[in-house]
Amino acid sequence: MQRRDFIKNTVITTGALAFGSCNEKDPYAERKYEGQIAIIGAGAAGLYAGYLLEEKGANYTIFEASEQIGGRIRSLKGFADFDIELGAEEIRGNRSVWYDWVKESGAAFVPDTATDFYQIATQLRTESQWNTDLDFQLALQLAQQAFNYTGTDSTLLQLMDTSKLAARVRHITEALVANEYGTSAGRLSVKGITEEALIGGAVDGNYGLANRSLLSVLEEKCKKVIPKVVLNKQIKRIDFSSDRISLEDAQVQRRFVDKVIITVPLTILQANELQFTPPLPEAKITAIKNIGMGAGMKVVLVFNRRFWDVTTGSVYTSGLVPKYNVSSYGRSTQSFVLTGLVMGEKAEALSGLPSATAIQNIVKDLDTIYGKGVATGALTNARIMDWGKEPFIKGAYSYPIVDGGGLLTRQALSQSVQRKLYFAGEATHYGGHSGTVHGAMESGRRAVEELLKDVS
Ligand SMILES: Cc1cc2nc3c(=O)[nH]c(=O)nc-3n(C[C@H](O)[C@H](O)[C@H](O)COP(=O)(O)OP(=O)(O)OC[C@H]3O[C@@H](n4cnc5c(N)ncnc54)[C@H](O)[C@@H]3O)c2cc1C
Repeated sequence: MQRRDFIKNTVITTGALAFGSCNEKDPYAERKYEGQIAIIGAGAAGLYAGYLLEEKGANYTIFEASEQIGGRIRSLKGFADFDIELGAEEIRGNRSVWYDWVKESGAAFVPDTATDFYQIATQLRTESQWNTDLDFQLALQLAQQAFNYTGTDSTLLQLMDTSKLAARVRHITEALVANEYGTSAGRLSVKGITEEALIGGAVDGNYGLANRSLLSVLEEKCKKVIPKVVLNKQIKRIDFSSDRISLEDAQVQRRFVDKVIITVPLTILQANELQFTPPLPEAKITAIKNIGMGAGMKVVLVFNRRFWDVTTGSVYTSGLVPKYNVSSYGRSTQSFVLTGLVMGEKAEALSGLPSATAIQNIVKDLDTIYGKGVATGALTNARIMDWGKEPFIKGAYSYPIVDGGGLLTRQALSQSVQRKLYFAGEATHYGGHSGTVHGAMESGRRAVEELLKDVS
């Protein structure tokens, strides 16, 4: 699919903050740690940490609160004639272990030939068709400027206000930048995303899978790790005041381990759903507060016919759903599927409605674009995946907030505590790749490296 170059930069970190690639000489290859390691959370970060520990022959167990592995990688089966991604959908960049895993799995990529369409008022046109519209031009320029911002820290909304961006095109800048970053314009720091883009590096593409789900790749690659996952095991308390660390679960059962790798989403830490004795250091608590993460959802709409232009990859709208991906694009499928990505305030608003009402309103929006009754008449099935309502996720993915301290805050979040607790998960990635699967995996690798270094 065609994606704008300035969105979510995608290269594996190459500067001082790099965590290394899987091909590097392994500095800890000779060592074997005999202690018990617990990993909390079986998302991409936790599973990859397990994968690396498995390679080292270490003793580890992964505790997962929900009834499934994958975390924010999840697919919807049986809704269409292919698995629909409810969380992560695209592989961001081609220089990561994650990309390599996908390649090795023999997955076919969706061809990068699609066109993006933008709604202004009731008109839907491509970028080149809107090209003479000055408001549209400014909307795209601002989306670019947001990643090259040099002024005092402000929100994307303030940048749009200062630039006097016309109301008729504001949704475009917001969708291209804030919605992609998991939030809305009034909450996202443009200085923060500029810093992340700078450190994260240049763009090298986004890849969608045409013939298998992301979860199936994870399952295949982590097949030795999955037996070590204990599902339905929500860890509630971590007491690291003694030599051995006590983990207490929701059933008030305790177990003792020597090291813990914590990969739970930021929101779980923000909501104090994991309690620590003694309390975490002040710098960590401040970091937890100074990174944003909030509501986000995917809206899956299945139709009995395609009423959009055959070349369509994505549609940016001014309605309830800022952006749709044509998830059936580039697949050999009889299903016609639009997947809407809704983040921040718009997700909160939809989340407050009964699901049937939300879907009805969303499809009516599509009727405004494609013709009266067109989408409504073709709808066969719909589902909202509301990540904010998932009890062990509670949101979409992390983003920088104004005056939040930027990547240094993420680094503070990632710091290990007393050589006992190690922190991973997408929000701890301080090399510019937070909010991604490969970033989550790299954070898992970093945590494992820190742990092995401490015991060497
Ligand atoms: C709608 C959406 C679209 C996305 N699109 C993309 C995309 O296209 N490309 C991309 O690269 N990334 C995308 N992402 C982001 C990507 O999915 C995440 O960055 C990544 O999957 C996070 O992995 P993680 O291991 O850090 O966290 P998670 O996957 O959230 O894993 C954490 C795990 O911890 C578990 N847990 C929580 N509390 C406890 C507890 N107390 N005890 C035990 N277990 C617990 C949770 O159940 C969860 O399984 C998207 C995310 C969303 C929500």
